Amino acid sequence: MVLSPGIGHLIPLTEFAKRLVINHPKFEVTIFIPNDGSPMKYPKQLLQALPKSISTIFLPPVSFNDLPHDVDIETKIVLSVVRSLPALKHSIKVLLESTRLAALVVDLFGIEPVSDICKELGIIKPYIFFPTNAMMLQLVFHMPKFDQTFSCESFSDLVEPLKLPGCVPLHGRDVPDPLRDKKSMAYEGTVQLCRCYSMAAGIMVNSFVELQQGAFKALMMNQGQIPAVYPVGPLVQTGSSDGGVNESNNCCLKWLNEQPDGSVVYVSFGSGGTLSSQQMNELAMGLEMSGQRFLWVVKSPNDKAKNATFFSVDSVDDDPVHFLPNGFLERTKGVGLVVPSWAPQVEVLSHGSTGGFITHCGWNSTLEAIVHGVPLVAWPLYAEQRMNAVILSDDLKVAWRVKENENGLVGRDEIAKFVKGLIQGEEGKPLRDKMRKLKEAAKMALSPDGSSTKSLAKVAEIWNNQGK
Ligand code: UDP
Repeated sequence: MVLSPGIGHLIPLTEFAKRLVINHPKFEVTIFIPNDGSPMKYPKQLLQALPKSISTIFLPPVSFNDLPHDVDIETKIVLSVVRSLPALKHSIKVLLESTRLAALVVDLFGIEPVSDICKELGIIKPYIFFPTNAMMLQLVFHMPKFDQTFSCESFSDLVEPLKLPGCVPLHGRDVPDPLRDKKSMAYEGTVQLCRCYSMAAGIMVNSFVELQQGAFKALMMNQGQIPAVYPVGPLVQTGSSDGGVNESNNCCLKWLNEQPDGSVVYVSFGSGGTLSSQQMNELAMGLEMSGQRFLWVVKSPNDKAKNATFFSVDSVDDDPVHFLPNGFLERTKGVGLVVPSWAPQVEVLSHGSTGGFITHCGWNSTLEAIVHGVPLVAWPLYAEQRMNAVILSDDLKVAWRVKENENGLVGRDEIAKFVKGLIQGEEGKPLRDKMRKLKEAAKMALSPDGSSTKSLAKVAEIWNNQGK
């Protein structure tokens, strides 16, 4: 398996590897890790805890020194794989000397470069592990056509929403970042990446049929024109998610133990998400005004980027707590807990005291909320998060989505209203009820007879025959 950078890619790919070797113990997995030499303390801790039949190989670090400082994350992610190709090719060759290859799996950004290696080495076509969802996969397959059909500079200019088979309508403004604006640096490369998806031998998707019936049905009806699609999720982090990056993580669970059932709203924007100073201030005031209990993973604000910590999740920056409004900590003492940079999210979401989640809608966070039945306030920031917010609010109806006001900010009144409604209001009941149903469906999908377990078994059977 070939990983691409980002905790949000590493967690689901390793969970996929774990599930494969647990359900099908005849397989062994080697994970190749392109990187830029940054410390990766937390990812390394996760990797060390993997079962023995999964080994990891860190490829030699690549340099990004020649790139402009404002280069987008998608370009950096793809380049980290591209620049690792010689080392990757060498490592695969060495591996092939002692192993029968059942399959080569790349995650969402690696298909184009890794396909070239497969051709050169004369090995089977790669499979894709797609760590996000079926609607996004639909967009990937439709994007080359949309690119030709719509002449607008930005999909945000479209009046009519885009229609993807089996999915709720998608407004152009909610098209994922690198695909929304044709003039953006990463646009052309990302559309080209979409074209390459048809080169895959098959695609494993981290979602489940019962969650996205329409989208999966449409994908499966297209088989022959597109590679076989296997829903294998929800694969969410198992075991402790406390990477030990931050001592204060330990206090989260202790604090939650002291709070009443379902009373706390958890606030986190994932590994990369950051807010502007003004937005951070509004959020603080909104939480305070709500009068509800909260657990907030705070990061230092960034006025330029919404994903400022994507490549530096375990870097120790200025203490983010210093950026909170004056007196906020004193005024919310006992009601709220503020944790700098990182929290053990899976444990927080599975804790009985957690009753709601303000999320940036990263797909892992989304699945973790579903698996633990926690209703959401959707606050998307970048990547495909706006599309995920559409799924959560318009399709699944388990989230309220925040709206930016004329100043480009999510206002304190709206935040307070949503938090209150989610935790104690009657209006939050439909969301809570629907989440409970999805939690059950998620559990079923992964049960021994469940749809995702069967789907993984199909993949395993194909790989087993290939390995012979
Ligand atoms: N995560 C965590 N603690 C944090 C922030 C994130 O454990 O304070 C984990 C979270 O549980 C999820 C992953 O990091 O598994 C983030 O993935 P997601 O797709 O939600 O968002 P991304 O960080 O990729 O934007």
